[in-house]
This record gives sequence, C-alpha cells and structure tokens, in this order.
Amino acid sequence: MTEQTEMTPQRPLPEITPLTEPFWRAAQSKKLVIQRCAKCDEYQFPPELACTHCGSPDIDWHEVSGRATLYSWTVAHPPMLPYFQERSPWPVVAVELEEGPRMIAGIVETPVDEYEFGMSLVAEFEKISEDVTLVMFRRDG
Ligand SMILES: [Zn+2]
Repeated sequence: MTEQTEMTPQRPLPEITPLTEPFWRAAQSKKLVIQRCAKCDEYQFPPELACTHCGSPDIDWHEVSGRATLYSWTVAHPPMLPYFQERSPWPVVAVELEEGPRMIAGIVETPVDEYEFGMSLVAEFEKISEDVTLVMFRRDG
C-alpha cells in the first residue's frame, strides 16, 4: 500500500479530447476500441479525424480482440516527472495489435528482463482515476 500524502507526486493523467473520448470511455468498461475506416476497412491508432490509409472521413470505432504481440520496448531512467522517477526504471512498450496498429502501453506483472520480442499479450485495464482507465497488457498464457 502506498500512502497518499501531500508530498506524494500525483500521476500525470492523459488529456481526454473529443477525438480520443470514445477510447477512454470504452476502457472504463474494460473494452479496447480503435478506429476503422468504413471505406477501406483499415484499422488505425492513435485516433485521427480521417483515415490515414485512404483519407476518408468516414471512420468508426470498433471493439478489437485485445490480443497483441510485443513489438519493442525501452526503459526510461531519471530525469523524469516526479511520479515516474519514484518508480524508475519505468518500462515503456510498443505492442502490435492483432488488427495491425501499434500502441504505446505498459506490461503488468512480467519484469522487463523477461520481455521477448513477439511475445503474446492480452489487454488488461487499470483504473487510475474516476475518468481514466489505462489500457495495459499482460503476458498471454
Ligand atoms: Zn480508409
């Protein structure tokens, strides 16, 4: 248990915009959604106002499987924002979703020295505030 005191640095929260709001709302319900183009059927992440493949503005949000593989990672060391500095070294990973797009995230439970390129992952949801639930990943199997 971590005691929250006035001296404890608060975790920086992502900014939720009209463009990204469907992603965050779905995450609160433990669902992973990304955009898919209604014209060419390509998935994309992060969200954009138009399809990055064909330029069509006709894009919708779709729930995806949550299955992914570990594409790459790095380990951040100080200097960092105070919240992260207290928890450093802090791994940051890039995962490749089964549907194609890559996403920057974190991996729960598995220590960084056990990461392997291409390892199978599945989405996991971590509520960090009333408004924000992060999409994380855990090793599958
Ligand atoms: Zn398209």
